[in-house]
Amino acid sequence: MTKRFVAIGECMVEMAPTAEGTYSMGFAGDTLNTAWYARRMFPSKWDVSYLTAVGTDAVSDRMVAFMQDSGITTDPIQRRTDKTVGLYMIQLTNGERSFAYWRSDSAARCLAADIAHVDKVLASAHVVYFSGITIAVLPEADRTAFLAAVGRARAKGASVVFDPNLRPRLWPDVATMCVAIMDAAAVCDIALPSYEDEASYFGDKTPDDTAERYRKAGCSLVVVKNGPEEVVCVSGEGRTVVPVQPVTNVVDTTAAGDSFNAGFLAAYCDGVALEQAVQAGARLAGTVIGARGALVDRAETAA
Ligand code: ADP
Repeated sequence: MTKRFVAIGECMVEMAPTAEGTYSMGFAGDTLNTAWYARRMFPSKWDVSYLTAVGTDAVSDRMVAFMQDSGITTDPIQRRTDKTVGLYMIQLTNGERSFAYWRSDSAARCLAADIAHVDKVLASAHVVYFSGITIAVLPEADRTAFLAAVGRARAKGASVVFDPNLRPRLWPDVATMCVAIMDAAAVCDIALPSYEDEASYFGDKTPDDTAERYRKAGCSLVVVKNGPEEVVCVSGEGRTVVPVQPVTNVVDTTAAGDSFNAGFLAAYCDGVALEQAVQAGARLAGTVIGARGALVDRAETAA
């Protein structure tokens, strides 16, 4: 029987500078990056679907075609005649990357406007995946309805996975972000936070503090990523620490966490033991940070 991994969030147009001084167009976004790697890493008996909202214009068509070409199921994607997709531009100043965003009125902000549609998509999911960015882009009322829909899917037996991906500039203030993140954690089974972000905004003193906070919120398993440092996993069965092979030639850390999540979930959700699944996530992330860009093609064979 086909099993279904459903990722939910916003994919954007990416404009990245080239060596010739022009820009190349691509598509990326945290949950989309995870879905893209998930499609490569999950065994073929798993379907990988993406739920978002896009426009009906040519660039929206190209985005959906890109996902389809990557093997991602796009049936859950909603089309809005009144909106289009968000965009970000990468700028290089003396080798330092900075990002400018045009996403405040993107179609993806409406992805939970039709909650009956969300319920329908999630009803067939074995694993539901979303992030702090997914909920950050939703209007407040839609966010509440979305988390309730996720809770209903979970009550019916889906495993719910959440990467907090803290981005304060998408929120009115840090306090609002922290409350919303913990509200989301309350409907999740697995949390995949990154320690550095969590320490910055929640004041955690150690990765174990981070794990404990998400455990208290109701997550049965918390996997705390920490750059090149060991990954700390805490569940009802105890604490597991998994060392990470340090990468010496770090080229671009974009999508380190997103790819880790895909490599980990592809193994763990398919029944691989926790420690080996974490190793699979770290191995994929290690390859991804050794090359430029969010979506690294050669990671497929290297992982
Ligand atoms: P995020 O990209 O979400 O901030 P992290 O920086 O914590 O996440 O990194 C996610 C994962 O990527 C880590 O758990 C690790 O497996 C891998 N990783 C990140 N930086 C390095 C590094 N310098 N060397 C090896 N692995 C790394």
